Amino acid sequence: MINPLSHLAAEPPSAPGHDSMPVANRAGSDTVTGSNKRLRWGSRSDVGLVRGHNEDAFLVDAPLFCVCDGMGGQAAGEVASAIAIETIAAHAPLHADDTLLGACIEAANDAIIERGALGEGSPGMGCTASAVLIEDDKMAIGHVGDSRIYLLRAGTLVRATHDHSFVEELVDAGEITPEEARVHPSRSVITRALGNDPEMYADHFLLDAETGDRIIVCSDGLSGMITDAEIEAIAVSSATPQGAADNLVSAALTEGGHDNVTVIVIDVVSDGVAEKRRRAIGRRAAIWAGALAFILVLLLGIGYAVVQNSWYVADNNGTVAIYHGINGEFLGFGLSDLTVATNIRVSDLPEATQQSLAAGISMGSEEQARETIDSYRAQIQEAQAQAAQVAAEAQAQSGTEGAESGVTPSDAVASPEPEPTNTAQEPAPAQGVTDDEAGRDHG
Ligand code: CA
Repeated sequence: MINPLSHLAAEPPSAPGHDSMPVANRAGSDTVTGSNKRLRWGSRSDVGLVRGHNEDAFLVDAPLFCVCDGMGGQAAGEVASAIAIETIAAHAPLHADDTLLGACIEAANDAIIERGALGEGSPGMGCTASAVLIEDDKMAIGHVGDSRIYLLRAGTLVRATHDHSFVEELVDAGEITPEEARVHPSRSVITRALGNDPEMYADHFLLDAETGDRIIVCSDGLSGMITDAEIEAIAVSSATPQGAADNLVSAALTEGGHDNVTVIVIDVVSDGVAEKRRRAIGRRAAIWAGALAFILVLLLGIGYAVVQNSWYVADNNGTVAIYHGINGEFLGFGLSDLTVATNIRVSDLPEATQQSLAAGISMGSEEQARETIDSYRAQIQEAQAQAAQVAAEAQAQSGTEGAESGVTPSDAVASPEPEPTNTAQEPAPAQGVTDDEAGRDHG
């Protein structure tokens, strides 16, 4: 139980222009306050300043809130409202289903009639019932009689329920104003209530609930004593739901407290929409992250397979070499390994081949790469043989004609090189590295 005085200390005066009447510690007053992660609520029921006992009953069982205003004389009204609250609590839907909430109020009607027939209370006892069940961003409302449910949204109070009263019918017909209805001599004549008609039906409907909404459920002991404008002013200026309930009851008492007055105030702390949105965004992000990870793994797998099945022949510091992989880098890592080094000098090959080797020549397989190496070797050997033959012919010619040309055969013919077999990891070429453009390491 909270200390109502602590709220009053922090709240502004309940009825501007009047001395507000304290509501705490009054005999027979009842409060229930509390909160959960979606809602925060406060409530107060007071016998008023005229009646001898309180025939109002209320239910605070979040997310269900209900006010019943009993009638029937000889204390029977409080029997009817107690039966109604008990039945509504027992039959309340688990979700914001207004049809079920309406059916629940109709069950309370049946219960009052049945138990009245069994002798409880007195004949003709009855009550009103105004119930709201708030679930996330929806609220189900069930309603019979002249208790009321108001919704304060963005500083504006609207009445959600329609009174089942004679004066409300006059207002609807345009014969009197709502303010005239509040002081009309027949203002307490109810046209629909629980407890007398087995065919009675309850109004029920669904409204949106939004974070920041303040919902007020009250008996006519409030709405009959102060205007809707005053209810709005107090509801807007009260910081907490309990403070608002206390200030509203205080205002009704200050105006005379002619009737029992019961007020429940519920604040929608979170309608769950932002939370749902966050969860949806989180789910979408997880799906995208999963899809991207899958694509990345797939691409890496494909890339690995491509690298594993690729070969190329290239210039390795002036000699021809076979590499396994792709001539390039990924994230700073080389994508190939030197597989076979040869002593074939790049400079011994034709200019076009030298340029291709500088860039690397892709091969379909290691076997194809080895065949290419063999063909280079054969090509060089053939060129050397041709040169040797040309030199020999030139020497023979110079032998018969005399050495007047001044050109020695060794200037024209490169000496044949030893040709090792092309096994893996051949030793580095004994001839050293030429100083031409092919000086980079592909490994
Ligand atoms: Ca009343």
